[in-house]
Amino acid sequence: MAEPFDVAVIGAGPGGYIAAIRAAQLGFKTACIDDWKTNDGKPAPGGTCTNVGCIPSKALLQSSENYEHAGHAFAEHGIEVNGLTVNIAQMLARKDKVVRQNNEGILYLFKKNKVTFFHGMGGFAGGGPEGWQVKVAGAKDETLTAKRVIIATGSKPRPLPGVEFDNQLILDNDGALAIPEVPKRLGVIGAGVIGLEMGSVWRRLGAEVTVLEVLPTFLGVVDEQLAKEAWKLFTKQGLAIQLGVSITKVAAKKEVIVDYTDANKKNQSATFDKLIVSIGRVPHTAGLNAESVGLKLDERGFVVVGDDCQTNLQNVWAIGDVVRGPMLAHKAEEEAVAVAERIAGQHGHVDFNTIPWVIYTSPEIAWVGKTEQQLKAEGAAYRAGSFPFMANGRARALGDTRGFVKFVADAKTDRILGMHAIGPLASELIAEGVVAMEFGAASEDIARICHAHPSLSEAVKEAALAVDKRTLNL
Ligand SMILES: Cc1cc2nc3c(=O)[nH]c(=O)nc-3n(C[C@H](O)[C@H](O)[C@H](O)COP(=O)(O)OP(=O)(O)OC[C@H]3O[C@@H](n4cnc5c(N)ncnc54)[C@H](O)[C@@H]3O)c2cc1C
Repeated sequence: MAEPFDVAVIGAGPGGYIAAIRAAQLGFKTACIDDWKTNDGKPAPGGTCTNVGCIPSKALLQSSENYEHAGHAFAEHGIEVNGLTVNIAQMLARKDKVVRQNNEGILYLFKKNKVTFFHGMGGFAGGGPEGWQVKVAGAKDETLTAKRVIIATGSKPRPLPGVEFDNQLILDNDGALAIPEVPKRLGVIGAGVIGLEMGSVWRRLGAEVTVLEVLPTFLGVVDEQLAKEAWKLFTKQGLAIQLGVSITKVAAKKEVIVDYTDANKKNQSATFDKLIVSIGRVPHTAGLNAESVGLKLDERGFVVVGDDCQTNLQNVWAIGDVVRGPMLAHKAEEEAVAVAERIAGQHGHVDFNTIPWVIYTSPEIAWVGKTEQQLKAEGAAYRAGSFPFMANGRARALGDTRGFVKFVADAKTDRILGMHAIGPLASELIAEGVVAMEFGAASEDIARICHAHPSLSEAVKEAALAVDKRTLNL
């Protein structure tokens, strides 16, 4: 048995590997256990995010956007492209290379921070608050003990009831990132973040994409003004999105036939070459051996934790997708740091009100804080201001003037309650709203800060000015 550890982290996704690094930085003898492997059996730390989530999806979004630009946008710049073709095998190989660089980067960080990495499945094998035993089933089985355990085992895709993923015809996120050739007809069930991002990739590469969504509203969690703009832009791009559908049957043989009722309760049937099912994710606790130590899970399978991420077991914590809250990599990372610091007796803190959200479609959609419809429902007195990229010089020079930036601020105090952006690099611009909200800034603060010219961030400043109805460039 290996020497006892101060902290053992199960899972090396963005939650787990960051928790391990922070614990090691704080002076704890730390182990991190993860079972993900490459096709040739090598360790592939980074979890869903690195292997089949955030990173590969953004690699393919970039590649497919480059292709779309070369085909449609370059001509306006006077760049003529003849005989444009796409090599999917090369595109997928590049994506795999990006993933591998991230896997290697995490292994390097473990070494640098003296985190002991175990490759295999980690599960509780007994013990108690004085020292938990964790069995690692890997190339060689071993059992380690640790005073504290941090569970960061993440999530996995939710299948449609009775419809299994085969990753040939019916694809989860893993399959959606590895389609070997552009399908002629691609179906996507679920118009959430993953469905829209994956649908965008394959549409740009030439697929006819139909998105079927059970909810009657499009992007219901997004500020209504942005959701409306997104609907207009995405449908114009050729994404056929149907809302309020109810799937009745999915049959896959050589192709996939989806029977459903539409929003008018009419029976419909659609045939696809591939079907991506992106209807959400479920917590991943298989292999943890939770019941052997009495670790409490809720009825949906999430590890039950308090606000501070403590489970019902003393010295056992849980973070990331496997616990309540948004399934986002940066939320997992924030919880990771906070838990490691709490273990060290510090006051780690995660502010759920300032977690940014991003949808990496084109244009990107990003937001932080409250939407206008939330504020209305709360009966809050607020002022809103928005500014279109159409009136931003940098956006014009870029050739992408779609969308706008919007602020909502308290009517009395002017404190920023939310920032919303749809447009070029909204994922980067949103950081300004996050910082402002963390510092309790007023829209007036943003309006009075000097922003570089010409930059997209000037649209943020102008949106803040718009709250007080005094834009300078509109
Ligand atoms: C297609 C897609 C795109 C996404 N894009 C984004 C994005 O752009 N931005 C964003 O913020 N989020 C994105 N997400 C969500 C993001 O990937 C997750 O929120 C994030 O990975 C959660 O991190 P985690 O550490 O909790 O779990 P995970 O990343 O799921 O990692 C858990 C790890 O633990 C391992 N594990 C599980 N059980 C055991 C065990 N018993 N023993 C050992 N190892 C175990 C798993 O194999 C895995 O390696 C995306 C997700 C998908 C599917």
